[in-house]
Amino acid sequence: MSLNIDQIRGLFPVLHQEVHGKPLIYFDNAATTQKPLAVIEALTKYYEFDNSNIHRGAHALADRATRYYEETREAVREFIHAKEAAEIIFTKGTTESINLVAKTFGSKFIGKGDEIIISTMEHHSNIVPWQMLCEEKGAILRVIPINEAGEILYEEFEKLLSPKTKLVSIVHASNALGTINPVKKVIDAAHSFGAKVLLDGAQSTSHLEINVQDLNCDFMAFSAHKLYGPTGLGVLYGKREVLESMPPFLGGGEMIKEVTFEKTTYNEIPFKFEAGTPNIADVIAFKAALDFIKDLTKPEIKAHEDSLLAYAKELTKDIKGFIPVGTAKEKVSVLSFNINGMHPFDVGQMLDAKGIAVRTGHHCTQPLMKRFGIEGTVRASFAVYNTKSEIEKLAEGVAQIARFKNK
Ligand code: PMP
Repeated sequence: MSLNIDQIRGLFPVLHQEVHGKPLIYFDNAATTQKPLAVIEALTKYYEFDNSNIHRGAHALADRATRYYEETREAVREFIHAKEAAEIIFTKGTTESINLVAKTFGSKFIGKGDEIIISTMEHHSNIVPWQMLCEEKGAILRVIPINEAGEILYEEFEKLLSPKTKLVSIVHASNALGTINPVKKVIDAAHSFGAKVLLDGAQSTSHLEINVQDLNCDFMAFSAHKLYGPTGLGVLYGKREVLESMPPFLGGGEMIKEVTFEKTTYNEIPFKFEAGTPNIADVIAFKAALDFIKDLTKPEIKAHEDSLLAYAKELTKDIKGFIPVGTAKEKVSVLSFNINGMHPFDVGQMLDAKGIAVRTGHHCTQPLMKRFGIEGTVRASFAVYNTKSEIEKLAEGVAQIARFKNK
């Protein structure tokens, strides 16, 4: 049974508008996905009926808000098949989740001469926190090289592994290229050297079935806003024993068991890592996004998105001057490209004039762009509500722009 895309589009108010006098075609989903009405309504409902601080109130609203908040935690557990809800920590986003690990796990377990491995295709948020840590600790950052297609050179990764490796932090699916990395193999190999593994799931969680127990990763970081959910909210998954071994991140309310001026004892996980009043409304609304995905099912979503990507590749492959960037065999629905002789930003502007929203630039992956010897790309990224006819409009638009420059 395939998805009813018209019906799905009906759930997204934002899609039904014109920009520059043309119907909006939203292909900037890797930056952030649009939100279904259920998420928007859950936010309003929370503020209209349930608004209260959680975990400490002795009244009905506080009980209700706490229950809803914890129900989302359980829904996230189910979404990534974690063993227990206590392994799910709410953060501001992927960026904060990775920084949390750098500041806590990193500060305790990574020292002078230790090594951290990342890959060439990392987002800046999976580069900079480790550089900061390495600078502070005298640790060393190692980088897995990639081939022309944008795939990691696995044998080179194996050569980088040693008893000095304390952490491998790698993107599950690349935001700039779409490449899906062979993370299971990476995790098993890293574990054989006693290293822990963090997966940046910012781009994989919306497309791929995720089972953190099966993958056996130690951490996974992702953002709600790329999963049809609200902005300002993310998740850090960590294995219980690893999270328990780590010092807290921020100090304050909620994360303590007992405070005296002499000594403070810390709360249990996940609360140990959730200091202060959290982003209650967005956490509660996030459950509606997870329910949306669950109802459609990941395999159905992926099948639809794969067919869009295949169609886009087919329609663009013979366009003169069209240069695809990232041609890995295993990809999520990201089409990154350049047009010969044109700056990606100009291509983006010309597509925008046609009502087509894409992202242009380095996509927060400057070292990756350098590897390809380019300044940036034009990126069209597809979500479940996109259609074949939108892909045709994109291909027509790209062909027109390319003709203009590549006669
Ligand atoms: N990693 C990857 C692969 C991403 O695509 C992004 C968002 N573009 C991030 C990390 C950072 O996510 P956020 O800005 O939501 O913290």
